[in-house]
Amino acid sequence: MSLIVQKYGGTSVADAGCIKNVARRIARTKDEGNQVVVVASAMGDTTDELIALADQLSEKPDNRELDVLLSTGEVVTSTLLAMALHSMGYPAISLSGAQAGIRTDSTYSRARILKIEPKRVVRELEKGNIVIVAGFQGITEDMDVTTLGRGGSDTTAVALAASLGAKECQIYTDVEGVYNVDPRLVPEAKPLGEIHYEEMLELATYGAKVMHPRAVELGELFNIPILVASSFNESPGTLIHGGVAMEVRNKVRSIAHNLDIGKITVVGVPDRPGIAASIFGPLAKAGISVDTIVQNASIQGITDLTFTVFKSDLARAMEVVKPIAAQIGSSKCASDDTLGAVSIIGTGMQNTTGFAARMFNTLSEKKINIQLITTSEIRITCIISADQVKEAVRVLHHAFEIEEE
Ligand code: ADP
Ligand code: ASP
Ligand code: MG
Repeated sequence: MSLIVQKYGGTSVADAGCIKNVARRIARTKDEGNQVVVVASAMGDTTDELIALADQLSEKPDNRELDVLLSTGEVVTSTLLAMALHSMGYPAISLSGAQAGIRTDSTYSRARILKIEPKRVVRELEKGNIVIVAGFQGITEDMDVTTLGRGGSDTTAVALAASLGAKECQIYTDVEGVYNVDPRLVPEAKPLGEIHYEEMLELATYGAKVMHPRAVELGELFNIPILVASSFNESPGTLIHGGVAMEVRNKVRSIAHNLDIGKITVVGVPDRPGIAASIFGPLAKAGISVDTIVQNASIQGITDLTFTVFKSDLARAMEVVKPIAAQIGSSKCASDDTLGAVSIIGTGMQNTTGFAARMFNTLSEKKINIQLITTSEIRITCIISADQVKEAVRVLHHAFEIEEE
């Protein structure tokens, strides 16, 4: 008997009809002779609605209370799914993240899973139950409820798959797999048959919402094959795994975009050892992740330091950086929340000439100004104006003939 973990995203469980559809799919997997653990997301836009509700009552909702509030969204879905399965004659039990033994650190709203103690899940499986775990949440040592960051139910699913030794983790969503570009921006985009963890990690980190980056990281770490497929049809989906031959193909394979970017520039910084540490140390301590960092060549010992953070962290990051900037004698500290990023991703970028030039030419032909550039071995990212991101995605998709895949 194989153990399969299936995760169903918000759109897949948006209403009672969708939940019945999902229950039928789960029942079929059980009928095929598998043990099934299901991870449920909150219904439709529930998480956004709960955040909006909290915002109506408080200017700055308390982090601990907010996490408990948001965790209820996935609890609702998991109980309803269990009821739907019961009414079809299947034994099923819902568990909150805490009941499923998901232990996290205490960083509210973006907690990390420290370990899973899946005793209860295993016991319920042994009794023959389908186990439905509320996604996106865990519990601290002090028994406080935490959430794992937006999109975090994917991470719950892969972490559970790893700790239970599941054969596969299946992520069911509202598109037919991982596409070479967001299918909402480029309707002719096609799902990929398979993709390597590394490439998927770049795609997810640089904006493809279809997988939570930390879920991909965990998949790679524990070597769990992840199937991304539609909950609405029987299309084969995309398998994310480590066996994809990466070296044989030297081309741009996918494009990611991201509108969640805030930029900070600290102007007139003295160019001496310790300055970067004095800025980035406190940011790290405040739990703010910094992505692109660029330091200009210094003129007469003075330079500018520019970096990006998530737009949602921009105000907090400015609160941290402003006093430090003043302390180190910077003349100005400016922020910009009108930016976005577009990335081309594919193997062999670093050792093949022409990718960067083609990307920059394509953007310049459309009069799209590039503000910052970053690269990895398999990615080139340009930070541009947010309102030009959609156009950039479309022209790059065409320029790199990604539709020929
Ligand atoms: P779920 O609620 O099932 O977790 P998400 O909204 O988090 O679903 O992720 C699915 C969405 O990700 C799709 O509807 C699609 O618009 C978006 N997306 C962005 N880039 C990609 C991509 N490269 N492939 C597939 N979907 C993508
Ligand atoms: N409901 C949460 C969110 O909307 C978690 C998830 O769906 O993965 O971000
Ligand atoms: Mg998601």
